[in-house]
Amino acid sequence: MRKIITLLVFVFIAGISARAQQVQPAFCGTPAHKSEWLERYQQNPQVISRSMLDTIYVPITLHVVGKDDGSGYLSMNRLMDSFCHLNEVFKQAAIQFYVKGNIRYINNSDYYEHDYNSGRQMMANHNVPNTLNFYIVDDPAGACGYYQPSRDAVALGKSCLGPSDYTWAHEAGHYLSLPHTFYGWEETDYNFNSPTPNTVTWANITRAVERVNGTNCSYAGDGFCDTPPDYLNFRWNCNSTGQSPQIQKDPSGVEFRSQGNLIMSYSDDGCSEIFTDGQIGAMRANLQQQRTGYLTNQAPPTPLANTDLNTIFPAEGAEVQNNEAFDLEWQPIPGAQMYFVDISRLPTFSFTVANYITTTNSVTVGADDLLADKTYYWRIRPFNRYDACTGFSNYYSFQLADLVSSTAAQETVLGLRLYPNPARENQEVIIEFSSEQGSNAAVSLLSLTGQVLRNQRMDVVPGANRMSLSTASLPKGLYLVRIDANGGANYRKLLVQ
Ligand SMILES: [Zn+2]
Repeated sequence: MRKIITLLVFVFIAGISARAQQVQPAFCGTPAHKSEWLERYQQNPQVISRSMLDTIYVPITLHVVGKDDGSGYLSMNRLMDSFCHLNEVFKQAAIQFYVKGNIRYINNSDYYEHDYNSGRQMMANHNVPNTLNFYIVDDPAGACGYYQPSRDAVALGKSCLGPSDYTWAHEAGHYLSLPHTFYGWEETDYNFNSPTPNTVTWANITRAVERVNGTNCSYAGDGFCDTPPDYLNFRWNCNSTGQSPQIQKDPSGVEFRSQGNLIMSYSDDGCSEIFTDGQIGAMRANLQQQRTGYLTNQAPPTPLANTDLNTIFPAEGAEVQNNEAFDLEWQPIPGAQMYFVDISRLPTFSFTVANYITTTNSVTVGADDLLADKTYYWRIRPFNRYDACTGFSNYYSFQLADLVSSTAAQETVLGLRLYPNPARENQEVIIEFSSEQGSNAAVSLLSLTGQVLRNQRMDVVPGANRMSLSTASLPKGLYLVRIDANGGANYRKLLVQ
């Protein structure tokens, strides 16, 4: 009876783990691949000294892929957080990536969730020469990401681009020639109960199995002698000493655990941390020998001066006419080459209602981008092409309001009218109204965004009042005329044709 129960429990657990393996997304979809270049390089590898390395600046192109209807893009802020992390990780190799051209957007549902065939097509159609091409999609062939050797490009899954994920660094390692530390075992499941063979074979390629004593490290496994043996081709989490829980046995029967901090292993993001000196030497040589056309610009970047938002328009708390496009504008920040702009209903920016990306110090908010009669908060995130590790600026607020009709009920003058309206260019416009009392008034001509263009004073008398307003040298367009009199503001629209 006891045996039967044990057996049932075993079957039950086996059933769960089989299902769990099926739904678990593959980590890396890079085919088992080692370039001829790397095979040659490893016969005479460079010896590097980390403290002596000059930084190599590497141009990349970011392709952000959405569905046919343009939805589904990875948010720019998450993209930049991930890019920041990539460069942080690659500091140990003195390799720094920079975004060479514009960030490119591709709307194609077949690429957004793709198989390897569609992925190859995407890369063939969109790769930018002499840059590393990274495609950010929803589903890269069921994996977190992969490097496609036949197209020399990488696809990355949105959900694997968290700010501390190592997927991007791992795939960039493949891009720069590195195989997995468990190279040779990609298609072969390791059975730790059986004697370990001397070789593993897949696709007619036979690879020597790396031994713990280092005697065959230069041609077995990944061919790097400073990466110890590793046969684990599944995602694993490291134990308290940073090693695989799984004990393995090399062909001589020597037991070992895999090293967890190696980015090119399948250890979890929490363990991943380093490339070895051997791997760094290969990546740098790959750039210097195989990708010389990429390295034409090696000028160090100008660092970003600060992340301070100093608004030019609108002023803090200012009212802006609703249903009209207007420009948010700020003082340019030295070193900034792009800005993200967020608009939110909340000063915490816990959700945003509009986002923009611009290479200048202003952005046009469309007439339909925001709802009317609300307070909005805006902030920027500046960065240059090399440094995405910048934070957000301070924020400002503005209010959308119908400046004409919202005050109509409380007008402080009577019968206000402008004529002719529409006016021709340079034509004098007459302003007429009557007042119940005498006062001194300010008469202003404003843009629709509330910016004061002209301002003059007039003495208001009890009864009928009339004055003329010059439109000389005003461009054609719609304006607001405001009369501040008797303790209130009175608005009319003026069209110059
Ligand atoms: Zn991989």
